[in-house]
Amino acid sequence: MKITDLKCAVIGENPVVRIVTDEGIDGYGQAENTKPYLKPMVLFYKKYLLGEDPTNVERVMLKIRRMGSFKPWGSAVSAIEMALWDIAGKAAGLPVYKLLGGKVRDKVRIYNGGVRFPMTSFTPDDYADNMRKMKAAKEGFTIIKQAIGFHTPMPERVPNFFYGDVRQGPPHPTRGLLTEQGLKHVIECVIAMKSVLGDEIGLALDCGPGWSVPDSIRLAKALEPYHIMWLEDLVTGDYTPYVMADVLREITRQTSTPIHTGEQMYLRHSFRELIEKHAVNIIGPDPADVGGIAEMKWIAEYADLHGILMAPHGIFDGVIGLAAHVHCAAAMPDNYIAFEYPVARPSWWYDIVQGLPDPIVTDSMITVWDTPGLGVTFNVDAAVKYLPVGDEDFFE
Ligand SMILES: [Mg+2]
Repeated sequence: MKITDLKCAVIGENPVVRIVTDEGIDGYGQAENTKPYLKPMVLFYKKYLLGEDPTNVERVMLKIRRMGSFKPWGSAVSAIEMALWDIAGKAAGLPVYKLLGGKVRDKVRIYNGGVRFPMTSFTPDDYADNMRKMKAAKEGFTIIKQAIGFHTPMPERVPNFFYGDVRQGPPHPTRGLLTEQGLKHVIECVIAMKSVLGDEIGLALDCGPGWSVPDSIRLAKALEPYHIMWLEDLVTGDYTPYVMADVLREITRQTSTPIHTGEQMYLRHSFRELIEKHAVNIIGPDPADVGGIAEMKWIAEYADLHGILMAPHGIFDGVIGLAAHVHCAAAMPDNYIAFEYPVARPSWWYDIVQGLPDPIVTDSMITVWDTPGLGVTFNVDAAVKYLPVGDEDFFE
């Protein structure tokens, strides 16, 4: 089998990759809906793929993997990797999880990062109201993640929140030392959320990046009685193109509250120091940024050897990204907790694909499907009307 074409179209907000072969089998991959600008980066790799056998996924990846980087520049490589696995599975007549070593679990747990309700004031009452809505969501979430601190507008909305300057620009650029009032405000908001969730539903907190080491330790220790699932991205995260494992380790080893990071990171090599130094308790690579499905599986295995847990990032990954998560989560070792459930935007995405369970999530779990490849394919007749001008031939 040979690759004859690599296409990319932004459908809705998600860049979608389609790899075409000479045997009539094609494969799809998807990048985050926050990256509508990605198409030229995907097409950059076309010349390296043409003529290659897509079922030798690793040999193809060796040609392009070196030309990616931390978020957002690893996404194109990651989406291509998903499409290669989709083809390899379809060619073998097997679901992708079988090619990753087979199922460890029949159902995979997800956590809520994508079902959101608007917040107004970022006060304890606002947080409590918001948690009531998420708790009542039809997905029956058993773990809910909420943003606090520098991952929210708190620095500009909460009076006397911190000692630095509020910075505008790309996601979450503000950093600094919190005031005593600022830290108390954050802790009161967490306690308000816990008063709604009780000990029945796990609460994870997306915190930054931007926290100082002393504030991180103060926050983590203050929250120890509340059994928080994890504190995510205190120091680095999102679009931070570095890791700072030593700094994270300083926080992690001083608290029993689990520390989490990794959504912006690219490749197993970047996770090596974080894992080997036991710098965090939980890592959260995103298959649409880290280099793909097999890359994440490799990292999960290496993390498990070091006693580190997995809670992959995925909020913006769309429905093909969801399929990538499901197959990888099915095959991960027992350090797997849950992945962040992507909600497709716009919602017509659910009308243009087939292969997803209905409902997709029941009691916070997704039943792993057995169709070949990623198992999510386009209903071309329904999808074609959403193709942008210039990409009308995407499915041809
Ligand atoms: Mg995050």
